[in-house]
This record gives sequence, C-alpha cells and structure tokens, in this order.
Amino acid sequence: MKFGGTSVATGENTRKVASLVEESVKQGCSVVVVVSALDGVTDELFEAAEQARKEKQEYIQAFKQRMFERHCAAITKAIKNSTIRKEVEQTVRKIIEELEKVLTGICYVGELTPKSKDYVLSFGERMSAPIVCGALQDLKIESRSLTGKAAGIVTDSNFGDANPLFNVTMHQLKERIEPLPEEKVTPVVSGYIAATQDGVVTTLGRGGSDYTATLIGAALSVDEVWIWTDVDGIMTADPKIVSSAHLLPQLSYQEAAEMAIFGAKAMHPRALEPIMKADIPARIRNVFNPKNHGTLISSEQTSTRQDAVKAVAMIKDVALINVSGGGMVGAPGSYARILDLLGKNGINVMMISAAASEANISLVIRRNLLGRALSALEIALLGKGFASEVTAEDDVCVIAAMGANMKGTLGVASRIFTTVARKKINIRMIAQGSSELNISFVVKETDGEAAVRAIHDEFKLDKM
Ligand code: ASP
Ligand code: MG
Repeated sequence: MKFGGTSVATGENTRKVASLVEESVKQGCSVVVVVSALDGVTDELFEAAEQARKEKQEYIQAFKQRMFERHCAAITKAIKNSTIRKEVEQTVRKIIEELEKVLTGICYVGELTPKSKDYVLSFGERMSAPIVCGALQDLKIESRSLTGKAAGIVTDSNFGDANPLFNVTMHQLKERIEPLPEEKVTPVVSGYIAATQDGVVTTLGRGGSDYTATLIGAALSVDEVWIWTDVDGIMTADPKIVSSAHLLPQLSYQEAAEMAIFGAKAMHPRALEPIMKADIPARIRNVFNPKNHGTLISSEQTSTRQDAVKAVAMIKDVALINVSGGGMVGAPGSYARILDLLGKNGINVMMISAAASEANISLVIRRNLLGRALSALEIALLGKGFASEVTAEDDVCVIAAMGANMKGTLGVASRIFTTVARKKINIRMIAQGSSELNISFVVKETDGEAAVRAIHDEFKLDKM
C-alpha cells in the first residue's frame, strides 16, 4: 500500500491511513506500507535547497522551524500514546537537525550539486515514514520504518531521476522486507528515495513513491499494489472540465502508463514497469472514500466497453515552437540538431510533428522553458543557412485522447477532428505515435476545455 502526500498531509489523515492498514492486517493480510512526504514538503525542500545555494542563512532557520512545527503537529494528532509520540518526535527532531546541517553546508559553499540536491530532497520521506510507523504502533500494530536505502533499493547515480539496478534491488528487497510480515511486523518504507551502490542518497524522480511501491511489489510477488491517493481513481476526463466524467474501473498497463505520461495525475511514468513484467495488478484507491474499489490496472481486459477512446486529458502550461527553413529540406541530421540542442539545454520535448515537406518542425515543451528554448535555438540556428525562422506560441494546450482500442480502429482520428472542427476550434498541430494508444493535438488554451468536452461527448464517455 502506497500512501501519497495528501494521505499523510496532517495527523488526522495519517490516523486514517493507519486504520486502513490496520483493517487489512486484522483481516490476515500481510501489508508493506510505502509513504510519500507530507503534502508540499518535497516542494519546500526544493525551495530551501535553492535558498541555501543563494546563501540565505535566515531562510534556513525559518524553514527548519516550519518543518519542525508541521511535523510535530502531525505527530501530536496522529499518535495518542505519549511514549510512542515522544520517541517519534525525537527521531524527527534528529532528522531535521541533520537537514539543517546539510542546508548550512550548501550555504557555506554556495553551490548546489545534483547530488546534494537529492540529499536534501530525501528528507521529506525520511520524516514521514517514522510518523506513519508510530501511528500504526499506536493502534497496536507492530511496525518498523525503513528508508529506501535500508530497504535495499539501489540505483545508478543519475541524481534527480535515478534508475534502480533491477536485479540487485529485487534481491535485496526480498531479503530485507519479506521476513518482516512473517514476524508480524508491518514495514513502513520511505518512498521516492534510494541510494547508489556506494550508499549515496538518490531520488527516483518526482512522484517516485509509486515506483518504490511497485518495486517492492514485484520483489515480494504481492497479490496487488494499492496506490492510495485523494481521488477515486483514473477518470474519463477531469471532472472540473466535464461534469459527467467518471471513474474508469479497469485499464491495461499500457493505457495507464500512457495517462501517467500525459499527467492525468495517475502515476510515476516508470512505476508500472516492475509489476507489468510480473503481471501484478495495481489499484488506485481513495483514502477518503475507501468504499470505492478504484481503478484496477492489469493485463486482463475486464471492461466490456469496446469504443476506441477511453479518456481525454488537457495538458496546460505548454508552449509550441515552430522551426522552419528551406535549409532543412533533405538535410540529414537537421531534426537531430534541433532536438540535441534542446536536450543539452535541459529542455524536455513533449511532442513533435514534422511534415514530409521537411521545411518545418513543430515541438511542444513546458511553457516555463520557452524563453530558454528560444534563445538556444535562435543563437544556434539562425543565420547559418539552416533554419530561417523560429516562432512560438505560449497560449496553447495539448489535448490527448487515449485508449488501447484505438489501435487498428479505423476512423478514430476523423471522429476526433470532425467533432473538434464542429466546435469551430482550430487545430495547430497533431501527433499520433505508431503505438496508436493516443492521439494528441494542440489548440489555443482558451479552446481546450471545449475540445475536451466535445471528445468526451463524441465517444459517449459519460455512458460507460
Ligand atoms: N515526495 C515526492 C514528490 O513529491 C515523491 C512522491 O510524492 O511520490 O515528488
Ligand atoms: Mg508527492
């Protein structure tokens, strides 16, 4: 069972989490718990690391105090037994003192390396796990908290987005975690964080607690991995945009991964890999509505619905770049040059489209990176007989329609584009990967919600 940041955001929520675990344990299940940092804490650590780099000593002091108060308030509400409470407080106090030392060190040298940044970011989950562990003990469930490193997750040194070394990780997790439930101990593992072979702390990328959970699930060959969050599961669309949007009871691994990539707030993009290989189902469930069975992600197709599109999402905060010029036509390596340049500048390209004329290529990136991308492209490309123009639009959004049955179904694209055209919405760019699991296109941001509603209607997603 993995619990996200909102599930442990406050002491009250943490008690809810503990009682959900208790319920399963009392039913005779063996449970391994994985927790995220308290909601917002990872972001705050990010900010604190930046402030330390700028040598803002006063910020660090105030930050330390804030962290301390936030976590102590959670402990007070989550744990009634005063002996357990004092112990957890002591543990968290020590962790925060270590955090202060790390930040002070960064302050002194005025430099923040990817390695030290990961070290700072690891503190959120290091603080949350002992609290959840204490809340379980408070309910008389024997429990022990472990960091990802202690649990045995080993990664490469790609700080900020480290990759687990799969075989050694599987072996160590099995060796260290599996015996605990047999001894009637419920392990609580810090999500998101791991370590290199030399023991240097790494993180698995934002949202990485899901990944921790599925790695453990695969290592222990569990029956199911439950991702507890603050929504009922994966929906056909954002209910804030489409009021008739509703829960999808079942998705394939590929569909769920596709939605994670498109930020439908489902999962860490690589989290499904370990369990997909082992054919272990995952279930997304709501801590605040545990009666709901959530969305099951598995290899079996349990839904009877055959229509091609299953869900539609709108991705905001993106920008469209268009590079054009006759010099690109028939010139081998011209697209590579553009993509390489963006890659070297740390700019991730979300979507690409280029027509057979080869005279232009369109790219979608995160909007906050647009300035950097444009200056890199203009400096490197213009006036070199290659590209003659670089233009951008920052008032756009991506609409992605997804579903495994789109593969090989004729007429899906035409239905999507006809329905959007009927709403008089202009499409700026289109991409469909040959996996055929999704069709994505770009429209003006002001047209985004209408496009989502039109597609939701066209494929009758409200009647599932
Ligand atoms: N706390 C980390 C984050 O906010 C990891 C997670 O929540 O899964 O990205
Ligand atoms: Mg989080």
